[in-house]
Amino acid sequence: MENTSELLRQHDIKPSFTRVMIFDYLKENLNHPTVDEIFQALQTSLPTLSKTTVYNTLDLFIDKHLVQPLLMNQQKHYDLITDPHAHFKCERCDTIFDLDVKPPKLDKSTAANYHVYGTQLIYRGVCEKCQKHG
Ligand SMILES: [Zn+2]
Ligand SMILES: [Zn+2]
Repeated sequence: MENTSELLRQHDIKPSFTRVMIFDYLKENLNHPTVDEIFQALQTSLPTLSKTTVYNTLDLFIDKHLVQPLLMNQQKHYDLITDPHAHFKCERCDTIFDLDVKPPKLDKSTAANYHVYGTQLIYRGVCEKCQKHG
């Protein structure tokens, strides 16, 4: 696994302890957490942490194209930018799953006009677990 401090430095981000903690949390929790979820999870090990810091750090990561926000039900969820992938949102348990589906690439003439940083491709429905308990 790549060293987080090194990775942040490569993206012109000073790897403060808090930033590394937040980035590592996203790396270990690929379930698209919200600011609240990240804040609650890290609060115990970082008692001085504020929600604003989490929010600002995520904004910085977005700015440097390390993280992309997913807007769902007026809530922002955060996803590390890895391979482009689509998402599935379960309407019953509100879980967001990664799908092994790639969003379509723009054709060359369109891509020449737009500098794309990310895409959002979301499928909605009921997940396997909720179908069983449905
Ligand atoms: Zn579900
Ligand atoms: Zn994802």
